[in-house]
Amino acid sequence: MSPNKNGNNRWKLNRPLLIFSVLVIYIFASFIWWSYLLISNNKHTLEQSITLLELQYEARGIATSDPLFQEAKTNLESRYRTQVTMILGEGAVFLVLLGVAVFQIWRSYRTELQLARQQRNFLLSITHELKSPLASIKLALETLVRRELPHDKQQKILQNSLSDTNRLQGLVEDILLAARFEDHSFRFARDQIMLSELVEEIADKVAHSHNHHEVHTDIDQNIYVTGDRQALTSLVANLLENAAKYSPPNTAIEVSLHPVQDRLCLEIADQGYGIPEEERANIFKKFYRIGNEDTRETKGTGLGLFLVKEVADKHDATIKILDNTPRGTRFKVAFPKPAPLS
Ligand code: ADP
Repeated sequence: MSPNKNGNNRWKLNRPLLIFSVLVIYIFASFIWWSYLLISNNKHTLEQSITLLELQYEARGIATSDPLFQEAKTNLESRYRTQVTMILGEGAVFLVLLGVAVFQIWRSYRTELQLARQQRNFLLSITHELKSPLASIKLALETLVRRELPHDKQQKILQNSLSDTNRLQGLVEDILLAARFEDHSFRFARDQIMLSELVEEIADKVAHSHNHHEVHTDIDQNIYVTGDRQALTSLVANLLENAAKYSPPNTAIEVSLHPVQDRLCLEIADQGYGIPEEERANIFKKFYRIGNEDTRETKGTGLGLFLVKEVADKHDATIKILDNTPRGTRFKVAFPKPAPLS
């Protein structure tokens, strides 16, 4: 995008905020001006009333030092003070209410802007995520149609296309799952899922598709949780895919699943770039991606960890991010043990 176009877009985005700010400043300034005018008018009226009172008393031959005159004057002054207190009091309430309203409008505006920016980023990244595997599958099919290749080369091309297709399928399933979370009336299945088998299968797939990483598993057998198979698949797959995506080649990924007291603990640890402490609260937000040097170049939509957190919440599981040793990240998900079958 050219700097000129960029500037134009920024101006278009900021124009409503600028108009709004000018209006707010105008309302505040005119309100303060009218209050000032009202108070000074009242003061003027008081001064005139006192002069009139003096004339009336002088005409009746009563001196201004007379207690009768003083009492009438005090009454006028105290009425003036009540009026000033009323103007200031009501003015303060009005200003506070106006301030609250302006703050709320400004906050909604910021949220809208952030959402629009996130959606735009999401659309860009999703287009890229869909386009590149589709392009390589198309290229692979064209090569197979046009040329007679040796069996092992054909197998390699087909394997690559299969892993691209799996990536596409995972992405589409994640988008559908995110849409299900938006639909609050949707109820997730509560089946008995053999988590140990599910984790083993996904770890196997990730080990195949990321063969520059070693995936070590330490999984207790016959571990069940109550929940939704597709949602749990997304949770495990996203954590494992991230462990591979955000760590350099030839590093190990460790996956373990054990009962610990009354919980079932799934841990996925990598030797990667790690997640800075200050980003840990943000990374579960929808479409959020950390913009640091190490991870900026990686592909992604910022949807993965949002789904991980939502799925964990729906399964009453807690999720923790810890530092791995000597480096990297350790995600710890603790599921409740399923209730014994009656
Ligand atoms: P995506 O991977 O599509 O960008 P996610 O929601 O899965 O989105 O992750 C959000 C961000 O959290 C990523 O952009 C990345 O910067 C960071 N992140 C996630 N997992 C890891 C990890 N294991 N190690 C380092 N950074 C990670």
